[in-house]
Amino acid sequence: MTAKKDMFRLLNGAVRGRLLEDEPLSGHTSFRIGGPADFWFFPKDIEDLAAGLKACSGGGVPVFVIGRGTNLLAADAGFRGVVFDLSDSFSGVSVGGMDVTAGAGGLLWDVLNACTAGGLSGFEPLAGIPGSVGGGVRLNAGAFGREVRDCLVDVTTVEPDGTVTVRTRDDLRMEYRRTALPEASVVAGARFRFEPGDPLRMKAEQEAVLARRREKQPLSMPSAGSVFKRPPGDFAGRLIEDAGLKGLRIGDAMVSGKHANFIVNVGSASASDVKALIDEIRGRVHARFGVTLEPEIRFLGFGEAA
Ligand SMILES: Cc1cc2nc3c(=O)[nH]c(=O)nc-3n(C[C@H](O)[C@H](O)[C@H](O)COP(=O)(O)OP(=O)(O)OC[C@H]3O[C@@H](n4cnc5c(N)ncnc54)[C@H](O)[C@@H]3O)c2cc1C
Repeated sequence: MTAKKDMFRLLNGAVRGRLLEDEPLSGHTSFRIGGPADFWFFPKDIEDLAAGLKACSGGGVPVFVIGRGTNLLAADAGFRGVVFDLSDSFSGVSVGGMDVTAGAGGLLWDVLNACTAGGLSGFEPLAGIPGSVGGGVRLNAGAFGREVRDCLVDVTTVEPDGTVTVRTRDDLRMEYRRTALPEASVVAGARFRFEPGDPLRMKAEQEAVLARRREKQPLSMPSAGSVFKRPPGDFAGRLIEDAGLKGLRIGDAMVSGKHANFIVNVGSASASDVKALIDEIRGRVHARFGVTLEPEIRFLGFGEAA
């Protein structure tokens, strides 16, 4: 394992962007949970991102790229390595004809807003998904029958050796909440293509989607959205609810009474509370229905065993 001072020397000598030390993950995750990351790096541009990745990969330094932390459970002990954060310099959105090009660190919302302003239709059902463009691509985020892949043309990625590659949607082989993009590849930007749409109708559809979310989801409490993926032919929320687990609590982590597939942080939940609750839910749902629920949320700092 690379010592912290060596990590700093390695990275600081190679990059130009802002570097923070011992940055608490709890300030960057929608669960409001997570201990410190050794270093937190905001690359200035794509060359800086490439230089940072190359330096870390050459020096054996673990890297994690964070979007907006809205699908993430970060460990109480934090992360021994460098978190790359693209929210500073990779957040532009530009419209050209039917295409929208967006930096990976920007919000999916920013893409949607640009679409609404320009009369470009396609992403309305994604209204209210709080993640970044990069996270949305990585997880093929989706809602109400629409997924990121439906409007994606291609992505620009940076590899651990610093190579910049353009990958088409077909290259990514996107499926329900997963892509074939190698774990170590970082999405720097994405290009989407939309259909012409009527801004008033599009706005109304977004409002309807947001109203449905407010009605069904515990949006006033910290969470990471749906905890488990939809098992084939069923819904994780239904299984959890029918197993009688709404309101089940470990520490300050609780199965939401509003939506059983959400775990909410009702106070100062720790990552281990949430993890224990996830394990408990999986065990009880399996015992009751014989279904193994697969987490949709990602884990950081759990020794990748979670
Ligand atoms: C209230 C609420 C509602 C939600 N509703 C939905 C929903 O309807 N549908 C849905 O799909 N999701 C939903 N989510 C979950 C979440 O918003 C999405 O999964 C989103 O796509 C995650 O994006 P992020 O930027 O927050 O990613 P993060 O949580 O930061 O990261 C998730 C994963 O993506 C990777 N990643 C992030 N950026 C990049 C990048 N640039 N390059 C490569 N990998 C990257 C990370 O390494 C990590 O593995 C919801 C979450 C909340 C809190």
